Amino acid sequence: MKKSTDYNIQYEFNTSFSEVLSDIFWPKKCIICACRSPLGRKEALCDDCIGAIRRHSMNFVEPDRHFEEAIAALPYTGTIRDAMIRYKFRGFEYLKHTFAAAIAICIEKHSFDDEYDIICPVPIHYLRHRDYNQSALIAEELAKGSGFTLIPDLLIKTKNLIPLSTMGYAMRQASVEGAIDFNLNYDIIGKNVLLVDDIYTTGSTADECCKILAMHGASKVTVLAACFADMKGDDYHADADNITV
Ligand SMILES: [Zn+2]
Repeated sequence: MKKSTDYNIQYEFNTSFSEVLSDIFWPKKCIICACRSPLGRKEALCDDCIGAIRRHSMNFVEPDRHFEEAIAALPYTGTIRDAMIRYKFRGFEYLKHTFAAAIAICIEKHSFDDEYDIICPVPIHYLRHRDYNQSALIAEELAKGSGFTLIPDLLIKTKNLIPLSTMGYAMRQASVEGAIDFNLNYDIIGKNVLLVDDIYTTGSTADECCKILAMHGASKVTVLAACFADMKGDDYHADADNITV
């Protein structure tokens, strides 16, 4: 099995001519501190900020939840929030490398590579598919070369909900109830599952997913999120129109 230290967080370089040109004209910057990332680095995270994620990623262990814990890499604020909005709403698909790298740092920190069998994303409703499910792309990146089996359609979203970012905590809880189905083509009895989400806010959606996974036999589920948001904070609203940069 590939160890998390082999995720090439710091050393993955592109060398094609077009990518070198792209880097000259549209240089990638670290999404946290905005410093210039090394030429060709996919992740857009500098060494200092990789160290900061190692020190400051968040763990949420909450009573009455259906997951062991939720681990989130980055605060949903400032340039990180702007990058996530670009990723979610504006088609900046390449940022999947950055958010996957941030989560991979958490996987490495918790050294639980061998504990988990399956990795799957929080689903989005087919009517809300833009070009991609952002959580699914991150899960796919994390699964590459790892020992986790990627099942992108393990969970299915059956209700096209009003965006949760417009709701308060109680409304979110009620809204996601019954919105997720399990794909009966798969058997996860006794398996340990990693659930990938883009932004962990109240945990309502993630918890509903974990409830469904547990109902269908998952032994243990841990949530991995790229970002964590404070509902009370000004930076909470994940509204594409609020992008500032
Ligand atoms: Zn940085």
